[in-house]
Amino acid sequence: MPDRPLDADTPELLRHTAEYAIDYRASVPTRPVGARPGLTSDELRATLGGPLPEGPRDPRAVVDELIAAVEPGLVTIDSPRYYGFVMGGSVPASLAADWLTTAWDQNAGLYLATPSAAMVEEIAGEWLVELLGLPAGTAAGFTTGATTAHFTTLAAARHGVLRNAGWDVEEQGLQGAPEIRVVLGQDAHVSLFNGLRMVGLGRGRAIRVPTDDEGRMLPRELRRVLVELPAGPTIVCAQAGEVNTGAFDPIDAIADLVADRPGAWLHVDGAFGLWAAVVPQMRHLVSGVGRADSWATDAHKWLNVPYDSGLAFVRDAAALRAAMGVAAAYLPPAPGAERDPFDYVPEMSRRARGFTIYAAIRSLGRSGIAEIVERNCRVAREIADGLAVMPGVRVMNEVVLNQVLARFDDSDDVTRDLARRVQDEGTAWFGGTTYHGTVAIRVSVSNWATTEEDGRRTLDAIGRCLADARAARRG
Ligand SMILES: *Cc1c(COP(=O)(O)O)cnc(C)c1O
Repeated sequence: MPDRPLDADTPELLRHTAEYAIDYRASVPTRPVGARPGLTSDELRATLGGPLPEGPRDPRAVVDELIAAVEPGLVTIDSPRYYGFVMGGSVPASLAADWLTTAWDQNAGLYLATPSAAMVEEIAGEWLVELLGLPAGTAAGFTTGATTAHFTTLAAARHGVLRNAGWDVEEQGLQGAPEIRVVLGQDAHVSLFNGLRMVGLGRGRAIRVPTDDEGRMLPRELRRVLVELPAGPTIVCAQAGEVNTGAFDPIDAIADLVADRPGAWLHVDGAFGLWAAVVPQMRHLVSGVGRADSWATDAHKWLNVPYDSGLAFVRDAAALRAAMGVAAAYLPPAPGAERDPFDYVPEMSRRARGFTIYAAIRSLGRSGIAEIVERNCRVAREIADGLAVMPGVRVMNEVVLNQVLARFDDSDDVTRDLARRVQDEGTAWFGGTTYHGTVAIRVSVSNWATTEEDGRRTLDAIGRCLADARAARRG
């Protein structure tokens, strides 16, 4: 075997792979949205598994076999009719930038290692702060998703509230520290609890404030909770975009209450809802959001960049650097010094995530991003309206954003069966949820390519599958 047996064939391998990827993307609008109906994990294990490979194999064969083996279990998450969870697709410029990110293979930890990747993050971060209406000077960290953005921002919050109490948590840790009270809504997203757990604040200690039917924190209940709390370090977490209903906590009212408590920190989970700030007619939904201290959001949801891409924003850049920075974190960067991305996120070495975000913002611009958010919300409303006029169908939420909850024949069985049938049929994909104790389907319209026509096709598929589900129930 020659020393470097693969090099001569690599260009052809990459061309072949790119051709396949291009064909795959071209098929996205028309391919079945779900994985192959009936596919089992045993089947996937059988085709993908086997003993540990003991020696080399031709890369072309590896790629072709990988494609063949995984295809049945791929879900067309980029389909304009994929409505599962809250997931975006990827706009073309961003997808292309993602390929380049891999080809360039930059380690985005520090400026010295990759001046361009570091500068792209610096600029994209400034654009995002302006786009989302956050205070000028807010620091941005490029994370894998909103969950890691929670971890990152909550660590900054922990630093901030304990610094105010005279405690250096980075040096001393939490043992013996003044107690930090964490207050959040009853309908806070599960990822926030992951973040609290990881920064040592404990998911079970958070004080949960009652919410209304749409999942919005009730300010009078928050006031009651805060009045009863002893003075001391406090972190309040609000939510912009509840994962089921899309509802927004009343952030202005919450910010008023937090402002009354000296040194308290307000964090906002805006994984997708924060993007309402980009649409002038929707900005009222996030009114007051600029008064918070930190924000977590995703780029891989509504900005429609490829996975994995989240954003951690902290108003007090020094707090973020103190919590995450690698060296001399307490010191501000020297004037004119380059920005090292690793001072703002948990990792040192990592992928140059800024390229995809930069490309998405450049290709869409402010108006293009606003148009996607607005159109997605319009399609969500049209799907809700179409469902509401079907006999036996109940839309459960106020459709203020891109999320629709619906229940069929007031039956858990019919509702679940309908979701499964639509998934198997292949026109569209959405999942089920249990919201405030009631089983429902959840439709999230978050893809840049989704149009009114997709909404109509989805309603048609639901109509067909509902008839089948009812027929099956009658036996
Ligand atoms: C998706 C989501 C998260 C978690 O985001 P990841 O990117 O999956 O880590 C957090 N909060 C809300 C409201 C979400 O919708």
